[in-house]
Amino acid sequence: MSETPENSPAGTVKTHAFQAEVSQVLKLVIHSLYSHKEIFLRELVSNASDALSRLRFAALTQPELMTGDSTLEVRIRVDEAARTLHIEDTGIGMTEEELVRNLGTVAHSGSRAFLEKLAEGVKKDANLIGQFGVGFYSAYLVADKVTVTTRSATPGSGAFRWSSDAGDTFTIEPTLRASRGTEIVLHLREDQKEFAESWRLRELVERYSDYVNYPIKLEVVRRKGGEGEGAKEEERSFEQVNRASALWQRPKAEVTDEQYTDFYKHLTRDFEAPLARAHFRVEGTQEFVGLLYVPAHAPYDLNDPRRRRGVRLFVRRVFIMDDCEEILPPWLRFVRGVVDSDDLPLNVSRELLQDSAILKAIRKQVVKQTLTLLEDMAKDRPDDYAKFWGAFGVVLKEGLALDRDREHDYTDKLGALVRYESSRGEGPTSLTDYVARMKDGQEAIYFISGESKQAIAGSPHLEALLARGFEVLYMTDPVDEWATEGLREFGGKKLVSAMRANLPMQETDAQKKDAEAETASLAPLTARIGKVLEQHVREVKVTHRLTESPCCLTLADGATAPYLERLLRERGKGMPQPKRIFELNPTHPVIKSLSELVVRDPAAPRIDEWIEVLFDQAVLAEGGQIDDPGRFAKRVASLLTLAAAAPSTL
Ligand code: ADP
Repeated sequence: MSETPENSPAGTVKTHAFQAEVSQVLKLVIHSLYSHKEIFLRELVSNASDALSRLRFAALTQPELMTGDSTLEVRIRVDEAARTLHIEDTGIGMTEEELVRNLGTVAHSGSRAFLEKLAEGVKKDANLIGQFGVGFYSAYLVADKVTVTTRSATPGSGAFRWSSDAGDTFTIEPTLRASRGTEIVLHLREDQKEFAESWRLRELVERYSDYVNYPIKLEVVRRKGGEGEGAKEEERSFEQVNRASALWQRPKAEVTDEQYTDFYKHLTRDFEAPLARAHFRVEGTQEFVGLLYVPAHAPYDLNDPRRRRGVRLFVRRVFIMDDCEEILPPWLRFVRGVVDSDDLPLNVSRELLQDSAILKAIRKQVVKQTLTLLEDMAKDRPDDYAKFWGAFGVVLKEGLALDRDREHDYTDKLGALVRYESSRGEGPTSLTDYVARMKDGQEAIYFISGESKQAIAGSPHLEALLARGFEVLYMTDPVDEWATEGLREFGGKKLVSAMRANLPMQETDAQKKDAEAETASLAPLTARIGKVLEQHVREVKVTHRLTESPCCLTLADGATAPYLERLLRERGKGMPQPKRIFELNPTHPVIKSLSELVVRDPAAPRIDEWIEVLFDQAVLAEGGQIDDPGRFAKRVASLLTLAAAAPSTL
């Protein structure tokens, strides 16, 4: 590559303001990463390698992009006198417009939300900023001024120079550059001279960028005529520093843990090491190599449906695309890594990928390998698995809800991987452990769902189950409602909501007889309740599931659980409120007194009001929301007034 003349036609320098977010990112980078300064080189080399990959891919269909020079490499050199570090690539380059957009705005999806989160005071640590991918701006960790000279590979494009000292503005001016590609020049800060030392640069490239697929060359200076006094003349030449071989193509035995971790960091720009990895080669009708990682923490936009999937697709070592949707189902969108196929055509398009049988086969293997990886982690490293579950459990559970009846059924495997808090109160448990702890006479796996542990732990529905010593799982993620639709049973045991009316529980003959007698004696009250709550209730009956509460609301078979129904309503999916079953505890004093009152004085003024209060408090007890909290509060206040006026009852 030839030297680029610094002169530019006068009067054509344009000054642009950085988008506000860029200034924010710059500040964050400088404040959060001051102890990780050296990462700038990895970031800039990654950008250069991406630019080379994009050129190589585009040239598959537009060979003219590479005419004249087919070199694909990165060159690093130092100008000691000027204290500048130069990183140059022969990649795709940028047009003037691309320069403004790419280096003047923050274009990542969800970045605004992320920045807002940071501004709200979330810890500004290296891990968070790492998830964001600081990229180009990390240059300002070591430089007080950066210039970027670039020429797009598109034939006929001119060259432009971008320059900024990280204030509020940058300038762009036309310049001259002989060949396509980009040169980044860092004007190193006084205290960052170490990055002008070639041994230091060599060390960094070897550490961070050994596996970059293109040669990374470093300029070395040799003195002619031997060392010492007489050695005046210098000879400069470029030497390749990295191995430039795809790490995933190397045999496992030849790759160290450290190299795997460094590669992960290169790929994801994460600062934290991954929790687990799988490196595998599939042979047979489809041949491909996969290197998959499970990160240690969730990215800020995990729940953004537009979030890119994290597996890069290569075909015979040629980079094809970053976010190949077809390789991973959405419920594995946290997995990062690389898939390199031997069978796909190089000029594969997105449309072609959509119904490619080859990719379907790859996807099946990728899912299988990931699930095995998770199973092993759960078995051998429960603490790491707990960490994984905390970060990605919500996403994995979507697999139960979404993937039923699709190409493959992963229900059993996913069932073994899910974890739930339970009434046992000892943290998340697996279903396998739950089943192993099941009591004699317990027929099903019981669960209760709602907004939070607090909201459901006191629910009346649990009383009889807990009284029998049965454990109940607490499901508090919205996705659980769908997940349990998919996971109907586990280990031969049905999953049953504690809210269902026909809870399978053994009753003794004596209890059954009692129930008949009680039902008869409570008939006037049940009839009255049925009338008063006609709008909300389809049936009123006597129950033995309650020990402390006067009543509760249960679900008929096939009825939607109230929490799910509320979620659907909140999402604007209008659905009629399903009628519930109102169950009465015949031994509770309130029910007994009310029943007597209905018989003795059916015209007593407050009976109907009290029935409504009972209904509302049953809704509240299961963590639900009542229709008219104001009216409820007034009624409770008037009841308290009555009670306070008759102190003998207190
Ligand atoms: P990221 O790489 O995460 O997108 P950066 O801030 O590092 O974020 O870079 C922003 C954009 O600038 C890149 O997406 C790319 O389009 C462009 N870019 C950066 N470096 C180069 C380069 N060496 N050659 C071509 N384009 C580049």
